Amino acid sequence: MKIILGPTHLEHELTFTIPPTDKIGIFMSGGLDSSALLSLILTELIETGRLGTVSITAFTIEKPTGEPEYAARILKKFENHFETTISHVNNIANTAAAIQQGRMDHAVVVQTAKTFNGLMYLSSNNMPSADIKEFGGGLGFSYRPNSLYQQPFLNLLKPQLIDILYKLKTDFIIPYAHSCSKQMVGKCNECYSCEERTWGFNQLSLTDPETIDL
Ligand SMILES: [Zn+2]
Repeated sequence: MKIILGPTHLEHELTFTIPPTDKIGIFMSGGLDSSALLSLILTELIETGRLGTVSITAFTIEKPTGEPEYAARILKKFENHFETTISHVNNIANTAAAIQQGRMDHAVVVQTAKTFNGLMYLSSNNMPSADIKEFGGGLGFSYRPNSLYQQPFLNLLKPQLIDILYKLKTDFIIPYAHSCSKQMVGKCNECYSCEERTWGFNQLSLTDPETIDL
């Protein structure tokens, strides 16, 4: 499928296709990006007549900020909406160092993808460039392509990712997605994830519907 994303000043045409496969995997964090990617995958499977014939497994790596719980809630909502089933491998052990940084350990991601041995997707996206970024924080690293998993959002910006949910009419999921990487319930408004989410909605001239607490 092809969709035009983002506000006019950040317009991006996304082409998304899924190669022939019988099993798809996706890393689900419980946030907006993995929700947008799952929405894209499910919609593309419907449009190519493959929903129900391709198995989908979501993988969630443990974090103390509620990712396993938010991801489980989001998956249920998607299963109901798309009338399909999604397997969930939840609470995969993370490392203490990665938990400390609020991220998934890279070696754990790699090992999970290797073990799955199917078409794996990761919704990572890099920081906006300095000329358009209007907030202070930073990721402190950048994601790179990896042959073990697909990263179709690598060069997309937060407003474009959020817009996927609206363009595919799956924005009902937004109040169930949690973004803060510092606290399990609510938002700190200071971490990179909180700042990026606020920036994303602002760029789209939309009001964040806010997360319904677990
Ligand atoms: Zn936060």
